[in-house]
Amino acid sequence: MARRQYAVIGIGRFGSSIAKTLSEMGFDVLAIDSDEHRVQEVSHIATQAVVADSTDEEALRALGLRNFDVVVVAIGEDIQASILTTLILKEMEIPMILVKAQNELHGKVVQRIGADKVIFPERDMGVRVAHHLTSPNVLDYIELSNDYSIVEMRATDSMVGHNLIELNIRARYSCNVMAIKRNNHMNIAPAPEERLKAEDVLVIVGQKHDLIKMEMDLEN
Ligand code: ATP
Repeated sequence: MARRQYAVIGIGRFGSSIAKTLSEMGFDVLAIDSDEHRVQEVSHIATQAVVADSTDEEALRALGLRNFDVVVVAIGEDIQASILTTLILKEMEIPMILVKAQNELHGKVVQRIGADKVIFPERDMGVRVAHHLTSPNVLDYIELSNDYSIVEMRATDSMVGHNLIELNIRARYSCNVMAIKRNNHMNIAPAPEERLKAEDVLVIVGQKHDLIKMEMDLEN
């Protein structure tokens, strides 16, 4: 199978972090920015870095972008440029278009146009930090949809020594323990009788309000 081709348009902090990570993972990345200095900054990271205005359809075609599998639009402030770019990429029939949105309205517009995934990095990071602040055992928090999320939660003192039957998380909070991480090993079919140990990390899915109730209850 041919290697996946990735392109990142807009290489500010967010875009360059994606380009750098993909490149470190061994993938080919084309980085595009209208600012020459930005392009120079990532030239040692990306497989290829070029100066281009992504609202110029001809320029994108000339770069052969239509052959790319995944394109990330990481233009932040210039919302109009982000929307236009998304539209052009959609017309080029790029299979996977990810767009970084500045706000809810921007997100809605690009979703309507056909972005496959819309990312709100500042908003999502704010949500994660808030959950970690109020429940320090919450290590990560990922929104799946408007209603559902996944939390990664370190076993609290009130959980250690108990098993999943005793904790009864499903009946008490309508949440599901999907996996338990122990010593870097992920057990995706945790036995209900297994007693939790300190430092175990539970991966739990549920409705947001149920997860918050669970976090608060189990924290104390
Ligand atoms: P971050 O938070 O990721 O640093 P940001 O949200 O502040 O970024 P900007 O700095 O506004 O976003 O945009 C990211 C990059 O997108 C910039 O380097 C900018 O030059 C580039 N950019 C903006 N418009 C275009 C365009 N039409 N074509 C290509 N690149 C563009």
